[in-house]
Amino acid sequence: CGIVGYIGHRDAYPIIIKGLQRLEYRGYDSAGVALYDGTDINLCKTKGKVEDLKNRAESEISLKGSLGIGHTRWATHGVPNDVNSHPHYSNSGNLVIIHNGIIENYDSIKKELIKRGYTFSSETDTEVLINLIEEVKKQENVKLGKAVQIALNQVVGAYAIAVFDKNKPDEIVVAKLGSPLAIGVGDNEFFIASDASPFIEFTNNAIYLEDEEMAIIRLGKEIKLRKIKNDAVA
Ligand code: GLU
Repeated sequence: CGIVGYIGHRDAYPIIIKGLQRLEYRGYDSAGVALYDGTDINLCKTKGKVEDLKNRAESEISLKGSLGIGHTRWATHGVPNDVNSHPHYSNSGNLVIIHNGIIENYDSIKKELIKRGYTFSSETDTEVLINLIEEVKKQENVKLGKAVQIALNQVVGAYAIAVFDKNKPDEIVVAKLGSPLAIGVGDNEFFIASDASPFIEFTNNAIYLEDEEMAIIRLGKEIKLRKIKNDAVA
């Protein structure tokens, strides 16, 4: 399983597809990509190989955009199928997530979210996490980074995640516990991946997140690294 992301000035899609291919050695059963085209998110995901994703994406969706995330899934919660594949939207359709790992207490969080009116289209723990982030963001009226931090403090499990909000397309929030996550820092462009192989041709400046660490990656800004448990996130 693997994650790849890009924010900057290049087309995100070719970087993401090539990156997912480089991460194929990690094993997976499904693959997907979400791209922000300047107005909306275009998403394609499928059970099968990255090659299958490539064929579908190239015929089914707009590949425009310089912000995107891609994923290869190794199913833990819910069978390998198109719907359970990542990325996953939140209920509003504004937030989108990719996740490697397991949210162990997803069932109790899911029940609570259902009481609050949330609906779920997949069987994954990941769709629960993105809706928890959305609910926290709304309830606490905080920015995405802060919402991710609060949500992750309610979660038991392991993860490498990347999240973005289509209403704030200059930013990707990432976090790690257990699963690997590296950030490649270029010239006002950033790469995200499970290891450095997807971005090694673009930059040799890599930051490897520690466990229980998150990063707010914003265009035009220094990366903000924070401890999920106890650092202040603005
Ligand atoms: N637990 C998540 C799922 O089953 C992520 C699996 C993975 O690591 O790819 O969808």
